[in-house]
Amino acid sequence: METNFNVQCPYCGEYIWMEFYPEDGNKQEMVIDCEVCCNPILYVVNFKADDIDLRVERAQ
Ligand SMILES: [Zn+2]
Repeated sequence: METNFNVQCPYCGEYIWMEFYPEDGNKQEMVIDCEVCCNPILYVVNFKADDIDLRVERAQ
């Protein structure tokens, strides 16, 4: 399964490569600072049988 995602920062609009691992759980929520603008981004990952739901929001 593809675990690399090119996500767009909701603050600065830059694209960031992120990697998520289904071994860590089917549903994951984490806050990681943007590498470019350092604002906290909330990632909500939902691994499904053959699909992945990824949501990116401002964490503040
Ligand atoms: Zn950013």
